[in-house]
Amino acid sequence: MKKVYLDTNATTKPYPEVVEEMLPFFKEAYGNASSIYGFGRTAKKGLETARERVRKLIGAEFADEIVFTSGGTESDNCAIKQILRTSTNKGKHIITTCVEHKAVLNTCRYLEESGVRVTYLNVDEYGRINLEELEKSIAADTVLISVMSANNETGTLMPIEEVGIIAKKNNILFHTDAVQLIGKMPFDVKKSGADLVSISAHKINGPKGVGALFVKRGTPLTPYFHGGYQERGLRAGTENVPGIVGFGKACEMTASRLDENREKIGALKKLLYEGIKRSIKDIKLNGDPEKCLPNTLNVSFAYIEGEAIVLNLDAEGIAVSTGSACTSGSSDPSYVLKNMKVGPLFIQGAIRFSLGVFTSREDIDCVIEKLPRIIEKLRNISPVN
Ligand SMILES: *Cc1c(COP(=O)(O)O)cnc(C)c1O
Repeated sequence: MKKVYLDTNATTKPYPEVVEEMLPFFKEAYGNASSIYGFGRTAKKGLETARERVRKLIGAEFADEIVFTSGGTESDNCAIKQILRTSTNKGKHIITTCVEHKAVLNTCRYLEESGVRVTYLNVDEYGRINLEELEKSIAADTVLISVMSANNETGTLMPIEEVGIIAKKNNILFHTDAVQLIGKMPFDVKKSGADLVSISAHKINGPKGVGALFVKRGTPLTPYFHGGYQERGLRAGTENVPGIVGFGKACEMTASRLDENREKIGALKKLLYEGIKRSIKDIKLNGDPEKCLPNTLNVSFAYIEGEAIVLNLDAEGIAVSTGSACTSGSSDPSYVLKNMKVGPLFIQGAIRFSLGVFTSREDIDCVIEKLPRIIEKLRNISPVN
């Protein structure tokens, strides 16, 4: 059976070149990057090449602004918790949005337990924040604004450059979780105005368990893993050299093919949506039809449950998701769609198709061929139809 993978917002297949580049760092160059002899120097060189490649992908000025972490979740945790620690005498108020990834939302919820105030900005029907609401939320003790660059469930782009300007004007630090945007669209850290940016390798065809936090020079950040002097003392612990090397290679490949992939993937997404619209009625597009990631298509099918669609597509070898991977397994409707006020007819039947660099025309044809029958079958047995 043909296998079709359309869940790249959950994770991606590593480029074969990424795996190749990692292998020597398991087999021969296994030294500790902090050691001064040859083995260590080779590992260190691998690390620094990777740091340079990450720097280039996001347009950072200095390589030492890149701190390697275990992934997007750690980067989000670090950015938010440490900025708060560093600025406790200045204030205890954070502004974020109600549609952030759980790595940001649950970090904020945790901080609320210890007395931090958090404002969760509302979003409109497309999942975008209102900049006036942001400005009104700013208080004398606001220390951080955290707004994601693009939403993982709907692909909706946030106006981060405008957020960056507002943050700067008010002398507040700005963090953006750019895990979903980086690698899919051009991202320039200087233009974004962000002081802190979260990145994850496995969302851009790199290995799992590795990522980075961009920390703009001059941003007050205290060490959060205490131990050795790795990563400028910010994050102690022997570095995951093979993972970081793979991450670097993924950044390099992503950067060199960005425009080409963006166009190809965007065309395939359009084809998929046209195909769905043509053959299935009572559907709704979730997210912004224009200001959206080129790879993400979130569509609701009325009268049926998203989970049933996922399972039926899986039986045909097609992998899609109901939304964020972290919430699957529960049948609660998506909090992202709920906050976008998607109504009862459509909220349960949402499916996220996320395409990637390995998605082919055949993959899309396969979905367009199989999906209508599945939807029809499920609607025929649905009690709410
Ligand atoms: C996947 C994802 C994360 C988490 O990254 P990990 O590397 O899996 O920890 C954070 N934010 C967003 C928007 C994501 O899509």
